[in-house]
Amino acid sequence: MNKTLNTILESSKIFTQEGNVATYIPELSKANPNNLGICVVALDGKEYYSGDYDKKFTMQSISKIITLMLALMDNGEEKVFSYVGAEPTGDSFNSIANLEVKNIHKPYNPMINAGAIMTTSLIIGQTIEEKIGRILDFTRKLSNNNDISIDQNTYFSEKETGDRNRSLAYFMKSYNSMQGKVDDILEIYFQQCSIEVSCIDLARIGAVLANDGVLPWSGERVISKHICRITKTIMVTCGLYDASGEFAIHIGIPAKSGVGGGILGAVPKEMGIGVFGPSLDAKGNSIAGIQMMQKLSKKLNLNIF
Ligand code: GLU
Repeated sequence: MNKTLNTILESSKIFTQEGNVATYIPELSKANPNNLGICVVALDGKEYYSGDYDKKFTMQSISKIITLMLALMDNGEEKVFSYVGAEPTGDSFNSIANLEVKNIHKPYNPMINAGAIMTTSLIIGQTIEEKIGRILDFTRKLSNNNDISIDQNTYFSEKETGDRNRSLAYFMKSYNSMQGKVDDILEIYFQQCSIEVSCIDLARIGAVLANDGVLPWSGERVISKHICRITKTIMVTCGLYDASGEFAIHIGIPAKSGVGGGILGAVPKEMGIGVFGPSLDAKGNSIAGIQMMQKLSKKLNLNIF
């Protein structure tokens, strides 16, 4: 497997020269576009990797699956989906259009920013610190990595430049569709996006999802099978922004991308995958990362469809 990953990584390096690193969050513009890493965690717990697999980057939108699972565990399916929908939008991740024009009370799904801010508002806890602490602890548990923490520079950068997210949140608040204080909810949202991970962490989280909520390395159940199923389904339909349909056709793996350049994949009953390449295409997905996922899917016949 390591040999396969090396071959895939080497043949995808050329794609790191295409696209651009994200710049709308200034801290992300410091990323090195040449970085490229991949890690696979099999359900027997074995780990395989290549390239910059241990390089750290921020989760960004990948954190949306963490908060979705936590919100579902805290509130149940019925309550969560009374606040946020489960339909793909075909619009960009930070679009405000659907909220205003189509359904003012409910963001379309938990993978666009408006929907993720809504799910974050549903996380249980007395204080901001307690809520972000729970998100961090859950991420640490799923990645078997107690060192996971928040990159403070990215967090401050997000906070300084997060006016679109403030607009989405105030819009939802103005229609009383979101409960709680906007500033507090965004504080948590900006921090969750700034959680630092490597490809190994992503692949382990993917492996837990692939294993229906049981940690492959200990046999402990941490998420119900039902919540894993909901999460993987939403990853298929909405996980790659407005490129989710194409990704499903060509790659066919439940996945979630982030503008930090990471993509997390969960191949049911098979493996978790983490890839990293910060150069993004126009829709905000890692160009070389998608190439690697596509080659891996073809080579190992991982397309679930
Ligand atoms: N922190 C980013 C934002 O809210 C996350 C976006 C993403 O990864 O798609 O704009």
